[in-house]
Amino acid sequence: MADVRIEKLYKAYGSLEVIHGVDIDIPDGRFVVLVGPSGCGKSTLLRMIAGLEGVTAGTISIGGRVVNNLPPAERNIAMVFQNYALYPHKSVAANMGFALKMQNMPKAEIDERVAKAAEILGLQPYLARFPRELSGGQRQRVAMGRAIVREPQVFLFDEPLSNLDAKLRVQMRAEIRELHQRLSTTTVYVTHDQIEAMTMADQIVVMRDGHISQQGAPLELYDRPANVFVAGFIGSPS
Ligand code: ADP
Ligand code: MG
Repeated sequence: MADVRIEKLYKAYGSLEVIHGVDIDIPDGRFVVLVGPSGCGKSTLLRMIAGLEGVTAGTISIGGRVVNNLPPAERNIAMVFQNYALYPHKSVAANMGFALKMQNMPKAEIDERVAKAAEILGLQPYLARFPRELSGGQRQRVAMGRAIVREPQVFLFDEPLSNLDAKLRVQMRAEIRELHQRLSTTTVYVTHDQIEAMTMADQIVVMRDGHISQQGAPLELYDRPANVFVAGFIGSPS
């Protein structure tokens, strides 16, 4: 079980508090989208779950275990960023297997995991290619492949599609959802795009200025926005 529980979470950078007591409960296998305008604290929250930022107060637990003081490598998470950097001089297969190699996983097991991820992502024909020989969408899939091979309990995405053109973005949304159908891995997905949130989420968490404005299923927010901010944000064109 890999439910994610966030309780009374605070974050301050020096004297500037940017997360002001946030509670989120994510059941195992759920696809949760954290959405809100730029600067509202989405990345900070996600980076705290990942262990890339310290917690000022409150608790984060993954699978019933408080992870506040665990390094990222011990949290059973894998993160996909907007500016995913692939290693330019490594093949697709080597890019995908690199983190496992660093963990001294036997080569046969690495090959097996890479092959499985490549099959899921439709990357089999490209395993021997180099990043420069790939399209934007293919590179994005390799970045996801690097996360999948680690077989994490939780996927964390931070605006992974913002660098792609509009058409590819729509296609990749569907692919990420299909991936979730297939693996059922608990997912926290950050975006500032309300259309992305509405089309991808099981559960949406709307953030504003380091607070949660509302959380619920997409239709629930659409039909019964809790306040003018949510109504304006969800209802406005992307
Ligand atoms: P979002 O991802 O929603 O755009 P962020 O989490 O990146 O928002 O930022 C939330 C707030 O925290 C912003 O006001 C930002 O300027 C501030 N912030 C983020 N990282 C730092 C940091 N390392 N030091 C100081 N302030 C930061
Ligand atoms: Mg951000």
